[in-house]
Amino acid sequence: AGLLPFEHEPYHAFSDPAVEGRQRAAFRMVREQYLGRTFPMILNGERVETAETTDVRNPADTREVVWRFPKATPEHLETAIQGAKAAFEDWKDSDPLQRVSIFKRAAELLRARRLEFNAVMTLENGKNWAEADGEVAESVDHFEVFARETLRWSQGKAVYPMPDEHVTTVYEPLGVVVCISPWNFPSAIPLGMALGAIAAGNTVVWKPAPETPLSSFLLVELLFEAGLPRNVIQFITGTNDVLGDPLVDHRDVRMVAFTGSRAVGCRIYERAARVQPGQRWLKRVVAEMGGKDPTVVCADADLDAAAHGIVQSAFGYSGQKCSACSRVIVEDAVYDAVLNKVVALTRELKGGLPEENAALGPVIHERSAERIMEYVERGRGTARLVLGGDRPDTGGRTGGFLNPTIFADVEPGDPLFQEEIFGPVLAFSRAQSWEHAIDLANDSQYGLTAAFYSRDPHKLAEARKRIHVGNLYLNRKCTGALSGTHAFGGYGMSGTNAKVGGPDYLFWFLQTKTVAQKY
Ligand code: GLU
Repeated sequence: AGLLPFEHEPYHAFSDPAVEGRQRAAFRMVREQYLGRTFPMILNGERVETAETTDVRNPADTREVVWRFPKATPEHLETAIQGAKAAFEDWKDSDPLQRVSIFKRAAELLRARRLEFNAVMTLENGKNWAEADGEVAESVDHFEVFARETLRWSQGKAVYPMPDEHVTTVYEPLGVVVCISPWNFPSAIPLGMALGAIAAGNTVVWKPAPETPLSSFLLVELLFEAGLPRNVIQFITGTNDVLGDPLVDHRDVRMVAFTGSRAVGCRIYERAARVQPGQRWLKRVVAEMGGKDPTVVCADADLDAAAHGIVQSAFGYSGQKCSACSRVIVEDAVYDAVLNKVVALTRELKGGLPEENAALGPVIHERSAERIMEYVERGRGTARLVLGGDRPDTGGRTGGFLNPTIFADVEPGDPLFQEEIFGPVLAFSRAQSWEHAIDLANDSQYGLTAAFYSRDPHKLAEARKRIHVGNLYLNRKCTGALSGTHAFGGYGMSGTNAKVGGPDYLFWFLQTKTVAQKY
């Protein structure tokens, strides 16, 4: 089947005062309507509240509780799983075209509310306008892409025929899929996983990150408004001790889709392997985990383009993306030039409030800021600090604000080179040649994204072959994968490489049935 074309959702031009005004109005509206409210979970279509709730705090000023969400008990978890299991009996046989219509309608509904969704995300996880806007646009794209993928995967595939048998290969859904998602992409990441499940005919238990539940809640409601039967997603909120392991371990769960840290991903992979009493399948796991993503700059590259790409991908959302550039590996001849350009551009970034669209906001928690500062302090002894390394004066606001930090002359054995810091900390390393630079880029347990800058077709061809990552970007930055175009997911310890937004993603949520019939 051919792919129906679609256009990626365009980004808002906030430099236009009219658009800026509309985004500010959306913040006022969100503050008026949502601030201080307690939201429910949604189990079997019912809104469920609990006596105990979790405070969601504005990371730019953690004294501000923006809203609250329920703390599920083990009974709620059981209700969610049994609800999803019962819903599967109908949803697995739903008409794929019905799913397509729901996703298309959801795309329309979200297009109309993008600025509101941006504002909610900014207040939950501290993304500035442009970062939030990019992610909500990606969510619209996901609806469009998964609508098309639903149709493609409902077709089955051709097999080599037999003279006297009719043989078909068709794809069938699995069952209950638990989706566990992170706070750094609270819209596009859980949505991608949940749509993968639903497009394939599975039902979902959706557990958002405790830091960012409203970005998810509004999407789930929007899907229901678009016509998704209200039991196909069970939306459950609470603490990781009640919802984490017990969701993964539950015998009625058929699959776990996870995006988050490497430690949690490995834990899920391991736990899901154990067959529970009464369980009748091997659980499937997709896990998208961390990165230590390199940008390689060759001596012949466009150094200005490289410097811009590095700064955007290293310091956008304060480096809190698994796709973020955290290592820059530069050929000796241009090492100082690239370092100077990157430092100069980074100095131009203004820190401040995400709600005011500052380039650099806080990291998610004060304790994350402290953990990042430990890397910085250790780095002072092992590498050359050229920028930052300290924390700004926030005028009394409590939030994990950090100055963008650049270390030069980082050796490959250094934790700055090997460990995912998940903050605005960038390590520069010198390479003797472009081949050496590729070896250094590959010197990592991770393999998520990489960028490679050169004008030489031979080097570009070698990089294409030799750089060991799931998402390789030649002459462009390593963040900002677009759904339907840049299938996203890594090699090595970056995860299972399920490639969300790609042509094979739905396969992970399906099983394959071969039926052979004698004429
Ligand atoms: N898909 C995002 C990107 O390409 C990154 C997702 C993540 O950081 O988890 O930038």
